[in-house]
Amino acid sequence: MKISLRKSALLAIPVAGLLGIAPLGFAHDEYQEHRAEHQGLNAEHEAQHEELNAEHNAEHEDLNAAHWAAHQHHMTRRQHRRLHRRLNAEHEAEHQELNAEHRAGHQELNTEHQDYHDYNR
Ligand SMILES: [Zn+2]
Ligand SMILES: [Zn+2]
Ligand SMILES: [Zn+2]
Ligand SMILES: [Zn+2]
Repeated sequence: MKISLRKSALLAIPVAGLLGIAPLGFAHDEYQEHRAEHQGLNAEHEAQHEELNAEHNAEHEDLNAAHWAAHQHHMTRRQHRRLHRRLNAEHEAEHQELNAEHRAGHQELNTEHQDYHDYNR
């Protein structure tokens, strides 16, 4: 989780920065349009986060279910350790996948945002 936090903080900067600068040079209409564009991008971003969080929660439920199911059988300490190592590895892999998806989503949004500004320059 610490990885995704750092990335979203990084990528939030350009959008917020441009939003702050925009009103100065723009006529009223352009400003409204730009705001609408940003709101659209933000809404998309929000939706992406919700999707990623839902995926993450589902994954946690799966892992918990697998853990619970395994505990219905007798396990030696060593088997239990091995089980947890495997569950942790799966969880780690899932996080990496979610982070990659998150990063890709941000890149897409940044590209869209960049395109918008290139057109309107
Ligand atoms: Zn994000
Ligand atoms: Zn913008
Ligand atoms: Zn997790
Ligand atoms: Zn356990």
